[in-house]
Amino acid sequence: MRRLFGTNGIRGVVNKTLTPQFALKIAEAIGTFFNGKEILLGYDGRTSSPALAFAVASGLASTGCTVYLAGMAPTPTIQYAVKKHRFDGGVIITASHNPPEYNGIKVLGNDGVEISRRQEIEIEEIFFEEKQKRAEWNKIGEIRRLLGIIEEYIEAIKTHVNVEEIKKRSFRVVVDPGNGVGALAAPQLLRELGCKVFTINANIDGTFPSRPSEPKPENLSDLAAVVKAVNADFGVAYDGDADRAIFVDENGTIHWGDRTFALIEKEFLKQNPRETIVTPVSSSSLVKDIAEAYNGEVVWTKVGSVDVSHKMKEINAKLGGEENGGVFYGPHQPVRDGAMTTALILDILAKTGRKLSELLNELPKYFIEKNKVECPDELKEKVLEMLYEELKKENLKFDTTDGAKIWFTDSSILVRPSGTEPIFRLYAEAKTRERTLELIRQYKEKLSEILKRISR
Ligand code: MG
Repeated sequence: MRRLFGTNGIRGVVNKTLTPQFALKIAEAIGTFFNGKEILLGYDGRTSSPALAFAVASGLASTGCTVYLAGMAPTPTIQYAVKKHRFDGGVIITASHNPPEYNGIKVLGNDGVEISRRQEIEIEEIFFEEKQKRAEWNKIGEIRRLLGIIEEYIEAIKTHVNVEEIKKRSFRVVVDPGNGVGALAAPQLLRELGCKVFTINANIDGTFPSRPSEPKPENLSDLAAVVKAVNADFGVAYDGDADRAIFVDENGTIHWGDRTFALIEKEFLKQNPRETIVTPVSSSSLVKDIAEAYNGEVVWTKVGSVDVSHKMKEINAKLGGEENGGVFYGPHQPVRDGAMTTALILDILAKTGRKLSELLNELPKYFIEKNKVECPDELKEKVLEMLYEELKKENLKFDTTDGAKIWFTDSSILVRPSGTEPIFRLYAEAKTRERTLELIRQYKEKLSEILKRISR
């Protein structure tokens, strides 16, 4: 059967693959799935978000669900509100960090976490088999407003950090929401934590005029320059819906997400030894090194934030993280949360009394190299099977959670079939650059040989 949900909800190009008409129809399927319950609905700052949200509201109400409109807000704010107000579920209109012509529909369960793959398939079945249950005229759901979720979210985050200690330090922080909805919560949170806040790109604009919405290091040179210019303690950039946070230290150096995550992990394990840390197999070995050094344990998942959230729920883990700047702080909520991540970093700076650059630079260092090998979708499974065979023959230690992650004493490589493109992705990591390049060369060659053998 055709799939509508990808790794992070339904995504498409507005008025091409994702029209208000489609949104209405999928919302009828979502409403049928929830069977007349109370659903919270919110959206990001994209140009198409209100139009799609009102179509979704109509679809949900027509099946008898009561819809609460939360308006425009960061994704983690809407997720938190679902849990806090005990809604039966939630829907968010967002395409996260995608280019401005995209949008998406994300469905949440009653704890604010994205529904499971199995539940997504149930909704798809209702959609494709036209099993939508439309309510009688007198059973159509109401559409109500819900105000104040951003304030409640900020208050909730503050309960997880030492507000007094942070306030004493009067940190100087530059915030770059990248014209996304991060502008609605993080600057306010930081002011309430006694910070002197400077903002750039903080006007919400669905065309993303200042920088691409994904907070990749190459998009953050303005932020780095402003951090230095105003002599800030650090800078932070969010993606379009503010669930991911990337940090710039006081020297203007931009750090990848797994380094800031490893810092949070280290301080967390110092306070909570023997806890389990959840992270995708694509994360740096740094996460494992820190866990080993500070008495924690790592559970690896498939690549994807929903997999991390569900694993955290399943094993009751309190901390998860991704290399792209997603940090999941379970005591608040087991989903990525940019503002919560920022508060955790402030808490660490206040507690240690040290600079962000010092704290990050003393973590173990790795060189990372990424690459890809083209492979038709229909051959991916066979190629992977044959790769497993070869690795067994070579007596190598490997993990099959998502593709093959091969561990060596000083390095590792992940060979993973892409879920969206006809390629295998390769992520090599080692203590020297030469070793990463060597691993990439070796495994590209191995995959090409396997492909040749199959097509013969
Ligand atoms: Mg996002």
